[in-house]
Amino acid sequence: MTTGNDRPRAALAEVHILFHGYAKAGDTPSVSRVASTVAFVREGDVRVIIDQGMLPDPALLLEALRALGESPATITDVIFSHHHPDHTLNAALFPSARFHDHWAIYQGDTWTDRPAEGYELAPSIRLIETPGHTRQDITTLVGTPEGIVAFTHLWWSAQGPTEDPLASDLAALHQNRARVLEVATLIVPGHGAPFLPSESTPR
Ligand SMILES: [Zn+2]
Ligand SMILES: [Zn+2]
Repeated sequence: MTTGNDRPRAALAEVHILFHGYAKAGDTPSVSRVASTVAFVREGDVRVIIDQGMLPDPALLLEALRALGESPATITDVIFSHHHPDHTLNAALFPSARFHDHWAIYQGDTWTDRPAEGYELAPSIRLIETPGHTRQDITTLVGTPEGIVAFTHLWWSAQGPTEDPLASDLAALHQNRARVLEVATLIVPGHGAPFLPSESTPR
């Protein structure tokens, strides 16, 4: 894996966490309570949502956006970190956005093939392919004045699990965690609050 080229070209983006996700047991064994961490990234005219949920109530996302002076109509792009419903369910909140995943961009009825690897939404916003949790996982690397933020499902939360119990390919997961740790100064995991990577971060 190359790592030297992963750094976004610019460091001009602004990052906000709209909702801190979680994944926990429900009242009965067949029920889980799960919400994705939802993020918003702004650079110039580009306004991006990353992983709009499952959430306990989509209104929570809309209120957090409104507090930033934004609305569903101003969102230009949505990124799916991967295809699981806990990260993709609320997509219809953003009818005019371009949607990005590992292999295409979708808008209206237009499906445009492209690999995510190295794709730039803006000079500070870059996608890389990081399979492991699923084969479709991508990580969004964002350059900010404070450092490089990685939005990724390679970690569920700062508290674990150390080994992803649902991983489709653990060897790839470990390889891609190491790749992201080469460049990221802050990790925004799939189901938790942002955390600073350290020597004890599982890789
Ligand atoms: Zn998943
Ligand atoms: Zn998830």
